[in-house]
Amino acid sequence: MLGGRVCAFLKAARCARLALGWNQWQARYICRGTSAFTSPMHYLDGERIEPTNTDAGGHFPILEPATGHKLCIVQESSVQDVHTAVVSAKSAFASWSTAPGAERAQILYKTAQIMRENIEAIAVAEVHDTGKPLWEAKFDVEGCVDTIEYCAGLARMIAGQHIDLGRGNFGYTRREPLGVVGAIGAWNYPFQMAVWKSAPAICCGNTVVYKPSPLTPITTAIMGEVYTEAGLPNGVFNVIQGSGAVGQYLATHPDVAKVTFTGSVPTGTKVMAACAQGIKYVLLELGGKSPLVIFADCQLDNAVKGTMLANFLTQGQVCSNGTRVYVERPIYETFVDKLVERVRAMKLGDPMSEDTTMGAIISGEQADRIMSFIESAKEEGATIATGGERVIPDPALAGGHYITPCVLTDVNDDMRVAREEIFGPVVCVFPFDTESEVIERANDTEYGLAGGVFTRDLTRAHRIAAKLQAGSVYINNYNVYPSELPFGGYKKSGIGRENGILNIDAFTQVKSVYMEMGDVDSPI
Ligand code: NDP
Repeated sequence: MLGGRVCAFLKAARCARLALGWNQWQARYICRGTSAFTSPMHYLDGERIEPTNTDAGGHFPILEPATGHKLCIVQESSVQDVHTAVVSAKSAFASWSTAPGAERAQILYKTAQIMRENIEAIAVAEVHDTGKPLWEAKFDVEGCVDTIEYCAGLARMIAGQHIDLGRGNFGYTRREPLGVVGAIGAWNYPFQMAVWKSAPAICCGNTVVYKPSPLTPITTAIMGEVYTEAGLPNGVFNVIQGSGAVGQYLATHPDVAKVTFTGSVPTGTKVMAACAQGIKYVLLELGGKSPLVIFADCQLDNAVKGTMLANFLTQGQVCSNGTRVYVERPIYETFVDKLVERVRAMKLGDPMSEDTTMGAIISGEQADRIMSFIESAKEEGATIATGGERVIPDPALAGGHYITPCVLTDVNDDMRVAREEIFGPVVCVFPFDTESEVIERANDTEYGLAGGVFTRDLTRAHRIAAKLQAGSVYINNYNVYPSELPFGGYKKSGIGRENGILNIDAFTQVKSVYMEMGDVDSPI
């Protein structure tokens, strides 16, 4: 039973710094401190499989962000592997698409139950993969359980409409699944992305081929095992692995009906172009540079806490982060002092430690990129109020990538750090004077993923929520994702929505059926 196996993995993961013996399930993963390990991370027809790609150059090491240790080696999927996965999904579609909603719901509820029993084990694997703190990974997995349960509920709500056309004639619409969904994820929330993309597709009767980021391949394969254990028919959820080229094969495969993609704007552009060629549905969740507006009448401590949530979860590598914080001038100095105090109190360190509040940046390359933004801010005249240094918090973490959380002040709106997505623990704080000024500045970006406002004035809060050009707006909080609320971007932050009842629109197509009750009236 998977529950037992996952728990065994958790036990192993907890004492990972010791040399461990591995049983079959455990051996698919490797914890820090152990040598390189190869394990099949590909999931096809209900089981882990070795890919057919035996090209010596076609594998990539998975490095643990926290330590730089090699966790495992993953073989990249070949074109043939991608094709096989799509064929498997296509063949599973025939029966899954006609399964009763109640049956799909039951399987998804069971999936949620198995996940709930294994939250800690899955979270530990996610921490190895991503470097995010354990408490946060657990919170993410708990959220995934909720999403799966929400989708289980949706499975029984998929319905068309009856339309009375007069003289006894009528029409009705059917909501039909699309077919094989190709899903491509980024590295910051690998498990959550696998859930957010697969559960709605599956609840609507589609089948899925999922490609995680090559930086974080581990928990997606676990997702496959959980689904299978819950009774999902073989082939409904498959996992391929590899780089952008593998994603490209998937997006261009003629039997893929829709691509749901999370990643950067440049890659999203390529995915959309690939989908345009095949006239495929496409959902894009892309980057952001979101504003958070804080008025002088706000509850200040809540605004500071909201700013922390808006900037420092997952080491700041969050698409919806409110990285441009506009503070009304009368409280600007006090706000910055309080924010800096709170940021300095964060504990940067081993993400497996329960008291760590900020873990490791995903890779050395990403850490370099973040540091280049901080350097450019300094050169352009910004002030570092705190943080922004590359550090090794503990000699045992020497190979990891750590940056102290950074607050920048004296930033002007044209600086690179104020305009481009950094995707790291860096927040810019700006003063503002009037509501109209701040709205204009907040919307002066090519992105439109999220935004927030802190104020006690409810009229103003809703006025601002209406004026912010963003897919999600938070009033007196930030970065909260209930499964009921759709999530997605305006402008270059994306197309389409994940979550909410809109999931049904996103993963079904409408067929209109006309019913003639009388004779055919033909003028020809
Ligand atoms: P990328 O766009 O670099 O990559 C995303 C995924 O696409 C990866 O699996 C990548 O593989 C793959 N890929 C690359 N090229 C292609 C291609 N031509 N066709 C198909 N797939 C391809 O993003 P990151 O992984 O670096 O993630 C960071 C970005 O994701 C940030 O901009 C962030 O804002 C955004 N993001 C958006 C979210 C949202 O919900 N709006 C949530 C989380 C992140 P490879 O790594 O090999 O290139």
